Amino acid sequence: MLKKLLHLSDKGEKDLKRAIFVCVLANIILFLPFMVIMQAMQTIIAPLTMGTPLDTGRLWVLLVFGLLAAALYFIVYSVEYDKTYTTAYKESTNIRVEVAEHMRKLPLSFFNRKDLSELTTNIMGDCATIEQIMSHAVPQIAANTISILIVSVLLAIYDWRMTLALLFVLPISIGVIYLSRRIQKKYGERHVRAKLNVSKQIQEYLDGIKVVKAFGLSGEKSAALKAALKQMMKEAVAFEAIAGSFVTLSSIVLQVGIGVVILIGVNLLTAGKLDVIKFLTFTMISTRIYAPVLAILTMLAEVMYLFTSTKRMQQLREEPVMEGVTDIALPNCNIEFKDVTFAYNDEDVIKNLSISLRQNSVTALVGPSGSGKSTVTRLISRFWDVNKGEILVGDKNIRDIDPEALMKYMSFVFQDVVLFNDTVINNIRIGKQGATDEEVRTAAKIARCDEFINKMEKGYETLIGENGCTLSGGERQRISIARAILKDAPIVLLDEATASIDPENEVLIQEAISALIKGRTVIVIAHRLRTVAGANKIIVLQEGELFEEGTHEELLLKKGLYAKLWHIQQESMGWSV
Ligand code: ADP
Repeated sequence: MLKKLLHLSDKGEKDLKRAIFVCVLANIILFLPFMVIMQAMQTIIAPLTMGTPLDTGRLWVLLVFGLLAAALYFIVYSVEYDKTYTTAYKESTNIRVEVAEHMRKLPLSFFNRKDLSELTTNIMGDCATIEQIMSHAVPQIAANTISILIVSVLLAIYDWRMTLALLFVLPISIGVIYLSRRIQKKYGERHVRAKLNVSKQIQEYLDGIKVVKAFGLSGEKSAALKAALKQMMKEAVAFEAIAGSFVTLSSIVLQVGIGVVILIGVNLLTAGKLDVIKFLTFTMISTRIYAPVLAILTMLAEVMYLFTSTKRMQQLREEPVMEGVTDIALPNCNIEFKDVTFAYNDEDVIKNLSISLRQNSVTALVGPSGSGKSTVTRLISRFWDVNKGEILVGDKNIRDIDPEALMKYMSFVFQDVVLFNDTVINNIRIGKQGATDEEVRTAAKIARCDEFINKMEKGYETLIGENGCTLSGGERQRISIARAILKDAPIVLLDEATASIDPENEVLIQEAISALIKGRTVIVIAHRLRTVAGANKIIVLQEGELFEEGTHEELLLKKGLYAKLWHIQQESMGWSV
């Protein structure tokens, strides 16, 4: 049951059981010194009650036992520490890696639905929560419950009347916590929601920091964040106050137990139905036994709250991943769309699209902005799965191909080039893990990167700032072309730059692209039609549908959308000259 609730691995479950066992052992051993003290007291009291001489020999033996018990407790406690904490941290590391792996295999549609901050909270926050439950709450709750049961049975055998006096407050205080669980859950969930909202607002604020600075919006834009933080504080205080009050109430109920033990004990004692030793034993135990009970109750409240996190984690782990055959050998690189319909959300973005793209040729996708060009490239690379119809690559339905295996056949040059905070050489090496320095440099040369890289302070070993702030748009584009050249995949998906790159950069980028696409199957999203006039086939999309297709000359003759766009662009170029 624990395994399911906490979504543990087999090993995690086994380790947790072991941790609980050691915890119980540690708790029981904790009673040994207590028993030694009781024995010692009995020995000391004996001369007073029975008039016998003080048995010092027995006291020495008890001292030795006491020391042994302390040593034993120390040993078991060290093991317990290792078992519970190390186990929890190891398991939460495993869970984090597992969740990250799982997310890697999820379709992008999943990320479209979720925002990044929620995912980060999920991986970091919820794992920390599970860690907390595993390292603290679960072993202690289990161990405390088991040891209290054992001790209660032993005490009942010793004197059932006093045991009853000791334990009758238990159900009442447990009842308080149990009855309050719904209110606690409600406030707990509100607190979690407020926390999520704060991370979302922080993410948004940081994402937009450039705009905020540029337009001096710090006041307005931080208002939402401030409000979210205030709300979180309110919810946190409300939750703590609610949870705290119930725990305090049940703790007060427990403390009443001490009074009851003394009251009943004194009554029995004066009536001669209880001896002094028993009375003292129960009085002492009453000051000790409620502490673990209270710990259980406090932790139970905590665990109830924490299960909100594990539930969310479970949903994430149950999201179906994209699957397919990993061992593929595509006989060719022809790409075919058969009656494909696709929607990111509800609205169809691609509608009954049937097109074919021949291998070893250049196919251009053109059309007005929002007509679905990028979507077509995303579908080819199986970032998303189609809703209807099928896409064949090398005569195989890509739905049956593992996305990572499919990716080996494709390389991308997109406009928004993601660069990592690493050296230039490692940033290019992303194209092919394990490529030698020589291979990377050759690719960089072909992509016309060599010159600007050599001008950098440390050449290929120069660190690129976070997300490559130190490179110009044209240089970033060439780095991404170098990656694609290094990857050497037979299919190249190219999103031609729209940004007005300076003429020198444009020439270099064109040269680099020409080197990249030689002898490959190329799909290019063309924004400037003159760059694709030479393509083997031009596919014109409008509102997700095939409007027309053909070569540049054929399409101009048709005098359709392409011809219109072509003329508009020619004119605007004329103006700009
Ligand atoms: P193009 O590349 O031709 O400009 P896109 O393929 O980017 O067109 O977009 C086609 C349509 O899909 C647009 O209406 C766009 O708003 C929508 N769209 C694109 N990406 C997403 C996304 N991640 N989530 C939801 N809608 C999207």
